Amino acid sequence: MVQCPECESDLDIEVDEVDEGEIVSCPECGTDFEVVTTNPLELNRVAEEEADEDEEEEESEDGDYS
Ligand SMILES: [Zn+2]
Repeated sequence: MVQCPECESDLDIEVDEVDEGEIVSCPECGTDFEVVTTNPLELNRVAEEEADEDEEEEESEDGDYS
């Protein structure tokens, strides 16, 4: 049994039936996940393309070491 990392409801997928790189969707919250590895099963949330670049711009509080 596989749980949704987002809402923890049961995802209706079997580990044996998915392959790496496959996209599965949670029937409860509608979030899409990519299967990273199947053994153990690891899911990576498929991010929306917008507003995804913000994370890399975090460079504050650093570089003032003089
Ligand atoms: Zn969910």
